[in-house]
Amino acid sequence: MDKWVGKRVVVVSNRLPVVLRKNREEWVVDPGAGGLVTALSPVLRSQGGLWIGWTGCKEEIGSEKLRHILEPVSRRSGFQIIGVQLEELEIEGYYHGFSNSVLWPLFHDLETKCSFSPHFWELYLQVNHKFAKIVAENTRPEDLIWVNDYQLIPLAESFKKIGVKRQCAFFLHIPFPPPDVFMKLPWRVAIMEELQQYTFLCFQTHRDRKNFINSMKILYPSSHIEGRGMLVSLNTGIHQMKIGNLPASIDYKAFCDLSKRKKVVDRALKVRQAAGGRHLFLGVDRLDYTKGVPEKLRAFSRALEKYSTLQDKIMLLQVLVPSREGIYEYRSLREEIEELVRVVNRRFSTDIWTPITYQYTSVSQEELAALYHATDTALVTSLKDGMNLVCKEYCACHSSNGGSLILSEFAGAACQMRKGALLVNPYDVEGVADTIHYAVIMSLCERKSRMTILKNNLRKHDVYWWGEKFLLGALGDF
Ligand code: UDP
Repeated sequence: MDKWVGKRVVVVSNRLPVVLRKNREEWVVDPGAGGLVTALSPVLRSQGGLWIGWTGCKEEIGSEKLRHILEPVSRRSGFQIIGVQLEELEIEGYYHGFSNSVLWPLFHDLETKCSFSPHFWELYLQVNHKFAKIVAENTRPEDLIWVNDYQLIPLAESFKKIGVKRQCAFFLHIPFPPPDVFMKLPWRVAIMEELQQYTFLCFQTHRDRKNFINSMKILYPSSHIEGRGMLVSLNTGIHQMKIGNLPASIDYKAFCDLSKRKKVVDRALKVRQAAGGRHLFLGVDRLDYTKGVPEKLRAFSRALEKYSTLQDKIMLLQVLVPSREGIYEYRSLREEIEELVRVVNRRFSTDIWTPITYQYTSVSQEELAALYHATDTALVTSLKDGMNLVCKEYCACHSSNGGSLILSEFAGAACQMRKGALLVNPYDVEGVADTIHYAVIMSLCERKSRMTILKNNLRKHDVYWWGEKFLLGALGDF
């Protein structure tokens, strides 16, 4: 990591790695959930530096008080945390609006779920401007500003608008859509202009990078690529920027170690005992229509119907992590999922067996590690996913003696894990049902060999590898 000695890394993301909430009169700090926190926290902890993001709460806290609340968290985290406060209208337009009702569905190829409201766009720019001012006040010109994700695309341009010079690199944690989808965005040119303000732009997979470049070529026909491999240069005639693709990852060793702790092993044993020797499938998904949870439940049901020998022999533990409950779409998705669970359980349950155990809750890392450790097959059926870290954590927490992974071919992780995983098309109910059956009858030898491939890959390409490569791309070369 010599190349950036003396350079302070400043991570900026929509959310902090913690969430603030008020319990009576006291402010409580909870750990944040989601893949971005999982990927960035260890990198910044190893590097030191600063993390700036929204506090996640609506209520106004005085800036002194906020600093006071976040100070002990900073000390524990190993990096400084600075909170951005947003007003209700800003949260509505920037977060629920442009970020989660325009860019999120569009970038996951679900343009029919988009609300292209000009009001959302205005608030998106306004909040980015606000972020830029706070980041500028708390940083120095020699810092590297590592901007994360779709909520903050205009940040580099906002710096220019307020006359502040900062070196900015950007990582997109979600997919970049193909041109025929991206071109539907009414603000497509503005978004592309904003992305060109970064000196380094990095995507999760080659697929996303290619999609971005293809859209650039349509909007800027004279733009061309120089170089080959994981890091190339894009020249538009006006701007020159480096473009890369790097799969975000997990702290492999930390998950491995966690899964071996006595408390976790004991809990895993209890989960297995409760299953009574049945083959356990595990689903851990944030409540989101991109995760393909209804598709998963339909396929699980079809597997039980098509392969009657599986009845009373398999179980699905489905954890649904609460998310974006302020958006109607998410609330109705939850109802749909819960109804499907009821239908499947009503249809197949016996006196001694209930096929699906469902929990709508977030779980601690220890509980998660125990579930990963205890279950026989992870079932990931995302319709589209930037990466999907759950499947990586599952492999890290499993011994190479068993455990298999059924993984959607539309998750970014599939590019990296296609050799060891059983890849499925989540829209193909029959195909997923067959793969569920295959996972149960697969020989121990095949299972071991697949899991060994997966673990070896992840051990090498862990979050530190990802962070180091990103910083090398931003400051030098891969
Ligand atoms: N996770 C969490 N709380 C939970 C369950 C899961 O923080 O109750 C974490 C999980 O460990 C993983 C992340 O959330 O690191 C999910 O990342 P993924 O990339 O799979 O999906 P995302 O939610 O970011 O779309």
